[in-house]
Amino acid sequence: MAGRHFLQIPGPTPVPDRLQRAMHRQMEDHRSSTFPALTRSILSRLPQVVHQTKGEAFVFPATGSAMWEAALVNTLNPGARLLAPRFGQFSHLFIQTARNLGHHVDVIEEPWGEAADPAKIEAALAADTAHEIQGVLLVHNETATGVTSDVAAVRAAMDRAKHPALLYVDGVSSIASLDFRFDAWGVDCAITGSQKGFMLPAGLGILYMSEKSLARVDSCTMPRAYFDLRAMRANNAQGYFPSTPALSLLYGLDEALTMLLDEGMEQVAARHHRLATGVRAAVRAWGLHECARRPDIASDSLTAVVVPEGIDARTIIEHAFTRYDIALGSGLSEVAGKVFRIGHLGDMNALTLAGALAGVEMALADSGVVVTLGSGVGAALQHWRVGGNS
Ligand code: PLP
Repeated sequence: MAGRHFLQIPGPTPVPDRLQRAMHRQMEDHRSSTFPALTRSILSRLPQVVHQTKGEAFVFPATGSAMWEAALVNTLNPGARLLAPRFGQFSHLFIQTARNLGHHVDVIEEPWGEAADPAKIEAALAADTAHEIQGVLLVHNETATGVTSDVAAVRAAMDRAKHPALLYVDGVSSIASLDFRFDAWGVDCAITGSQKGFMLPAGLGILYMSEKSLARVDSCTMPRAYFDLRAMRANNAQGYFPSTPALSLLYGLDEALTMLLDEGMEQVAARHHRLATGVRAAVRAWGLHECARRPDIASDSLTAVVVPEGIDARTIIEHAFTRYDIALGSGLSEVAGKVFRIGHLGDMNALTLAGALAGVEMALADSGVVVTLGSGVGAALQHWRVGGNS
C-alpha cells in the first residue's frame, strides 16, 4: 500500500530513523577491550529514565515478561507469599508468572477498567501481622485497559501498614513515556522491555533494582540460571555481560537514551500527556467512552475505546488495517471484541496522531458507528494547537 503504515498499537511502537541507523552495524567482539564503553554508557544512563539514584539497572536479551521472572527469582525464596491487585490481562499474567514459579499470590480482584486500590492493599498488609507477605505486584500501566495506577499511593499504603514487603512494579507500557519515580515512590523492582517507550524493536528486558531488593540477590534461595543477577552483576562491573549481548539493540538503546534524556524525562511525560488528552477529546467527540472507568486513571500511553453494543471491535480493527493501513490494538481476553486500543506512546507527535485519529474515524464510520467525520480529529486539534485546551 502506498504511503506510510500507521503502527498505532501500544507496543511495539515505530522505531525512529535515528534509532534504526544506530542499530545498523556490523557485529563486533563483545569481549574486546573497547566494549565496556558501550555497557557503561547504557547502565549509567538507564537509571535517569526512572529518576533512580540508588540501586542498579540491568539489561537482558529478553522481553518484559522475562523481567517479571528475573525480578522474582532474584529476590524471593521458594513458595513465597505475595499480594497483587488484578484488573487486566497483564496484571493477570504477572500473577500467573509468580504462581508458575511456585509462589502463592493473594489476589485483590478489581473490575477491568479500574486501577489498584491502595486502601485494599493497606488493609491486606495490615491484616498480615506476621509479615508473611514478601512482595506486592503492581502493574503501573495496564495495557489491556488503558489504566494507570498510582504507585506513590500504593507505596504510601504499604508504609501506613508498616509492612516490609517489596514493591514490584511492571512499567512495561509506562517507563520511558509516563512519569516514573523509582526512588520517590519507593519501588524495589521495576521492569520493562525495549519495544514501547524506548522506541526499539522487542528483544531487551530492563530491570531496575533498589538497594533493598539487591540485598536479597545473594541470599535468596530461588533456583535461577539465565536470570541470575549474581553473574550479571559480576560481569557488568567489568563492562561485560555473562552471555552474548544483543549488540544491535544495545546500540539502539544507547541512542534511545540520548534521545530521551536530551528531550528530558519531564518533557517526555508532558508530551505523552498532551497527546493523550487530545485522543480522549476525540473519543468523547465520537460519542464513545474509554475502558478506564474514571478520567484520573486514564492512561497517557494508550487509550482503550469501548465500541457500541452490537458492534465487534475486531471488525473495526480489521477494516482499519486492510482499508486504511493502520494497526490498532485488539481487546485482550475479557474485553476481546469490546474494545480497540490506540497506542500513543514512543515516537509520536500531534500530526502523527491526527492522521491516526482520521484513520480510526473513517473505520468507525464504515463499520456502522455513528460518528461525524472530522469530529474527533477536530476535538484533538483544539487541544494540540498553540493556545488550545491543554
Ligand atoms: N506488562 C505489560 C504492562 C505489557 O503491556 C506487556 C506487553 O505488552 C508485558 C508486560 C509483556 O511484555 P513482553 O511482551 O515484552 O514480554
